[in-house]
Amino acid sequence: MSVIDDLTTELAKLPGIGRKTATRLTYHLLKQPAVAVARLARAIDAVAERVRPCSRCGNLSETDPCGICADPRRDHSVVCVVEEASDIGAIERSGEFRGVYHVLGGRLSPLDGVGPDDLRVDGLRERVANGGPVREVILATNPSMEGEVTATFVRGVLEASGVRVTRIALGLPVGGELEYADGVTIARALTARREMADG
Ligand SMILES: [Zn+2]
Repeated sequence: MSVIDDLTTELAKLPGIGRKTATRLTYHLLKQPAVAVARLARAIDAVAERVRPCSRCGNLSETDPCGICADPRRDHSVVCVVEEASDIGAIERSGEFRGVYHVLGGRLSPLDGVGPDDLRVDGLRERVANGGPVREVILATNPSMEGEVTATFVRGVLEASGVRVTRIALGLPVGGELEYADGVTIARALTARREMADG
């Protein structure tokens, strides 16, 4: 296999990029000056080498704990639970949330083989249980079927702790992804969060 085929194959593995787009990207890169291509390669190298999940919240960061967990100006008594680290960026852009986060690392999805053991819930239980400062957990999983099931599951995990558990309002379009929602929509969903009902 040629190096051109090699790069095309790697690019085609990325989400939303088929073989055709991968080929186009490869030939686009081949037309660029070598320094520009080297810069892209270095940027990819750098994230692979330096970015790790925060041991406390699971956010992707160059430092551990991450900048949010280490920030004394954040409200460490409110924890916002999200599916993926990429959701944190979307919520931060809303400018509405001053608490801290917990990344589950996915959502319950039996069809994709994702079960309770695949989510980072033990860490969340510990953060809430350790007589720590947490007084509210906001469940900000996506407004999809899997997101709802995941929120209900996490609520059950936290039940014994007695901590207040709320769910963001579903002003977000059902089936929509938090990651792609605009800041105003997310701010509204956070402000209008409600107590999570029993059961
Ligand atoms: Zn963190």
